Formats: sequence, C-alpha cells, structure tokens
Amino acid sequence: MKPKQIFTLIELLIVIAIIAILAGMLLPALNKARQKSQQISCASQLRQMGLAVQGYAGDNGDWLPYDGKNWYAPDKLGKYLNAYLNTSGPSRNVKMFVCLSDVIPLAQRSANSSKFFVGLPTGGYDYLPLSYGINTVLVGDTGNSWYTPHKIVQVKRPTMTLLMGDASQRDISNGNIVIFRHIKFQANTVFVDGHVNALTTVISWSNGSGQAFWEAGGTK
Ligand SMILES: [Zn+2]
Repeated sequence: MKPKQIFTLIELLIVIAIIAILAGMLLPALNKARQKSQQISCASQLRQMGLAVQGYAGDNGDWLPYDGKNWYAPDKLGKYLNAYLNTSGPSRNVKMFVCLSDVIPLAQRSANSSKFFVGLPTGGYDYLPLSYGINTVLVGDTGNSWYTPHKIVQVKRPTMTLLMGDASQRDISNGNIVIFRHIKFQANTVFVDGHVNALTTVISWSNGSGQAFWEAGGTK
C-alpha cells in the first residue's frame, strides 16, 4: 500500500506563497532600518569633522582649514580625526571619509574630487571613495580668488553657516553638489557651531538667509 502523503502539492505551494508574502512585508522594513543606521553613522562622522575643524582652528590662530579642497589631508583635518592619509605607508581610519549610503562606484568617480589616494593597511595604494565636501565659500579655495580664507571667529551666524556635508565632491560651493543620499531625500550636514542637521534643501545665496548659510559675514 502507498504511504499517505503528509502534504499535497497545493498545500506546499500555499505555504511557500505565505512565506514569500511575509518576507516581502519584512524586507522593506529591514531595508529602511539599515538606511536609518547608515544615516546615523554618517551624522556621527560629520559631528567628529565639526569637532576637528574647531580643534584645527584652536591650534592655528582661529583659521578655518584654508585650501578647503584638501580638508582631509594629514596637515588639515586628518590629524584631528586620527585619519592619517598618506602615499608612503598605510593610512588610518579612512572609513571616516565614506558615507555608507554613498554607492557611486569608484570607476565613476573623478580623481582628486570624489576619491582620494591612500596607503592600504595590507600594503600598496589605492583610491577610496570620498563622500563629504567642505563649504569652500567659507573656508577659501586656492583655485578661486572669490573664496577667501576666514577665521572661525569671523563667522557671524555660526549656527546658520554650513561647514561640511554629504557631497559628490570634496568641495561644496553651491547647492548643486550637496547630495541628498539619505532616506526621505536628506543630506547630512554639520554647521560651524558643531551641530549636525539633515537637510532636504539648500538655501541659495540670493534667497532669504542664504548669505548666512554660505558666508562668514552673512547676517541674513
Ligand atoms: Zn551621509
């Protein structure tokens, strides 16, 4: 006599379908939680960068790190982030410069603007992604005479003036290159006073409080 089947094929298919539906309900929630944790880790990195700028200014006669495009260099903020970057030996703590929500492949990044050359702990050298930019309107840029160096004490509205944020390049000089890479179309940013904020929009220079957002001397 043939043994009785425990499940019929149709029962098995129904169980599989129910599992698929439950997984489909769970995955978006897991994905959202993962994105949120990435944003929190990014905000913590930016908070440390804000502190590094204050440390740099304290040791350098109140000056913000001039030549902002090289803000991550060992003689600029690298030293204060314990993130020594070099091309003659292993670099340290370079994950500090990568936002986990930044998914642009290395091959699509331009050298010296959205990736940087570092020594690897395993020996040898390679490019790594750079996910943050500094406000060069504020800190100055050797390549643009309009963007002059400033002292941190010259910033009239430190709670309103952008220091650094999620970006597609190492410098931020207008709204176009702040990148809203986090959930709900948000960009993490740190301001001159050190507070971190997730923005959904960037104020243009000519609008409302735009001058205080970009410039040391902006009062509105
Ligand atoms: Zn980020």
